Amino acid sequence: MSEVLLKAEGVGKRFGGFVALHQVDIELRAGERLGLIGPNGSGKSTFVNCISGDFAAHDGKVTLGGAVLDGLKPHRRARLGLARTFQLPQPFGSLSVLENVRVPVLFAGQAPSATARALECLEQVELAGKADCLPKELTQVELRRLELARAIALNPKLLIADEAMAGLSNAEVDQIIALLFRLNAAGTAIIMIEHIMRAVTAFAERLVVFVAGRKIADGPPRAVLALRDVEDAYLGR
Ligand code: ADP
Ligand code: MG
Repeated sequence: MSEVLLKAEGVGKRFGGFVALHQVDIELRAGERLGLIGPNGSGKSTFVNCISGDFAAHDGKVTLGGAVLDGLKPHRRARLGLARTFQLPQPFGSLSVLENVRVPVLFAGQAPSATARALECLEQVELAGKADCLPKELTQVELRRLELARAIALNPKLLIADEAMAGLSNAEVDQIIALLFRLNAAGTAIIMIEHIMRAVTAFAERLVVFVAGRKIADGPPRAVLALRDVEDAYLGR
């Protein structure tokens, strides 16, 4: 078994009086492929935002590779090896596709040539041909690939992909799955948050299910999907 990479213990988040996350525990090993599923509003993105530092959690403790993340700003967590994509891609609109990837490459600060490394990231997502375009000239799947290239540019130990396939065709979904597999084969642990069950079951070696801000299941996909609670709450049967 590889070592523990991410350890989230008792992560809780409230919005006013509303509890969006109830003391969630999740542990992830280096190089693992985890699927995180649950109905709309079950707290998946809130969990990601608490892990990435985009939200301040109210409770809990999070470590990545042994480093305590609590209280750190998102950029500090990124430097420790945590990358996330947003449900709605958030490129810099006035920068070219290449420049959009050069920014995180420069931030990660490990490449001898930022331009060469940015192009390499674009090649990984098959977007090098659009390097000089502006984000507004990209299709939806290209925007999602750009979002992934910007995450890859950080050389992450953990990538959290929050609904990176929403609105894509079957063929496009397959392309993104293949891309995530390649990234994982190179050693990056991945948390895939996805409504497209075909994608989750093809990709994940472990599934976590959230319902109403609670983790209700955690285990091998086949076993988790067979649980009565998961059927009732998530699949609506
Ligand atoms: P999911 O990603 O599983 O669809 P979210 O984490 O986005 O769910 O949302 C969980 C709950 O928290 C929802 O009820 C949502 O309305 C609420 N919520 C999320 N973000 C905010 C916010 N910034 N302010 C207030 N409520 C929020
Ligand atoms: Mg969400």
